[in-house]
Amino acid sequence: MTPDAITCIYCGAAATDWDHLRPLVRKKRPTGYINEVRNLVPSCGPCNQSKSGSDWRRWMVSAARGSPKAKGVADLDERIARLESFEAWGKVEPLDLRDLAGAENWESYWQRLATIEQKMQEAQLQAAELQAAIRGALSTREGAVSFGTPESVKKDDGETAR
Ligand SMILES: [Zn+2]
Repeated sequence: MTPDAITCIYCGAAATDWDHLRPLVRKKRPTGYINEVRNLVPSCGPCNQSKSGSDWRRWMVSAARGSPKAKGVADLDERIARLESFEAWGKVEPLDLRDLAGAENWESYWQRLATIEQKMQEAQLQAAELQAAIRGALSTREGAVSFGTPESVKKDDGETAR
């Protein structure tokens, strides 16, 4: 078998990627699965992107856009059976990252990240309020000027002249 003959494990198209059968990240959290050969399968780009962080079996038979089922892959059951035996052979288990890192440090990190994300959302809302307030104030002025577009701002400060 030549590299050209390697096909996508999910749909049979030409393989261009190595997909992590068990995703490394799901819902922005590391799953504990790692980059190892027992967790890698040949995949086409569209399948890799469509599957993303999904559970492979659920994704394959789902109606998700670009899933093997949605693509009408004929030998879907055989492909699922092949992947099941690959999994059984690999016996890949996720690492207990929380335990490895130290539970206290782990929890504190995710708490800190959640706090930052919350603050970012608050800042975005506040920015929108500021914008609305400034627009409102300008609209009541006589001969009000608009903010202008980023293009006109560029021209005004001479950035484009350099
Ligand atoms: Zn594919």
